[in-house]
Amino acid sequence: MSLLKFLSFSFIMVSCSSIKENMVVFSDPPAIESVSSATVGTGKVAFKRFSFNRPDGVYSLQCADKPHKFQVKNKVANIYLPANYFSDKVKVDCTYTERGEKELALTLNIDQFDYPKESLNVPKSKVFYSKKDLARIIREKSIKKKIYMNSSDVFLFDKPFKVPLNSYITSHYGNQRLFNDKKKSQHLGNDLRARTGTKIPAANRGRVVYTGNLFFSGNVVVLDHGMGIFSMYGHLSKILVTEGSVVNQGDVVGLAGATGRVSGPHLHWGVRVNGSWIDGFSLIEASKVHLGDES
Ligand SMILES: [Zn+2]
Repeated sequence: MSLLKFLSFSFIMVSCSSIKENMVVFSDPPAIESVSSATVGTGKVAFKRFSFNRPDGVYSLQCADKPHKFQVKNKVANIYLPANYFSDKVKVDCTYTERGEKELALTLNIDQFDYPKESLNVPKSKVFYSKKDLARIIREKSIKKKIYMNSSDVFLFDKPFKVPLNSYITSHYGNQRLFNDKKKSQHLGNDLRARTGTKIPAANRGRVVYTGNLFFSGNVVVLDHGMGIFSMYGHLSKILVTEGSVVNQGDVVGLAGATGRVSGPHLHWGVRVNGSWIDGFSLIEASKVHLGDES
């Protein structure tokens, strides 16, 4: 057999075998056990586990116009489902499709959570920004967008999340703030009391994806925990990790401080899941369902 003939013959063999392989996997897909529903409050995250009769890997569940990645290992699917603070929906239909066919449907019920309102009086300069500050705020918007664009395709942690500090919460997640009776804002993180210099441990294992100084948050460390889960530590006096490194739960990422737009030293602990800032305490609870309660 000439070399050319041999090569084209092998090519046909390879193509046939790969088609055959695909057919074995996809021609008669075994049924996926259906999960009928999940419930989550606005600004919170739920964890769901279900059997999923497909090979190990990362898949995507489409909830309205948003894809939610989930991991499959040994026919078991693990998914974190957040509800955005601003969502006004009470129900979202989620589907997983394969070759255009719906293979799994899940109804995500959203509880509209009523967050407390608070009025604050602060100096004018803290509510209305100078031209220079405004330019910086706009510039940092695109920086922040980039930070959260990519997340590792695996869960980088194997223990439940922990609150970084067991201190008094000076401002809870979700408070609706009205500044000087004029400007509204929402506090989408938890403020934990901390003196300047207090060591700030990582809430869980993750990769450092950002360190830097931002107008509102001051010195910041952002960790990617994989599968769209991030935690951020704001207003630090000192950053003690470098971008790209992997930290374990409890490793010190920086020291508390009062950098950025603050009235005193504290830690702002932010948690983001699949594009939504959610209450970190709900991630702790969801991750206990995922990985077991060790406390
Ligand atoms: Zn805060």
